[in-house]
Amino acid sequence: MGTIVCQDCNSTISHFEDEKVSKLYGRCMDCDCNKTELEQ
Ligand SMILES: [Zn+2]
Repeated sequence: MGTIVCQDCNSTISHFEDEKVSKLYGRCMDCDCNKTELEQ
């Protein structure tokens, strides 16, 4: 099973079917990580 992880907050976004264990990086829908960085 593959896992999609948010590259900003490291939280698991979703899973996808895969023969082997793999990890992809994306960004969660309402990720406040970038927003916080910009505001600071
Ligand atoms: Zn995130």
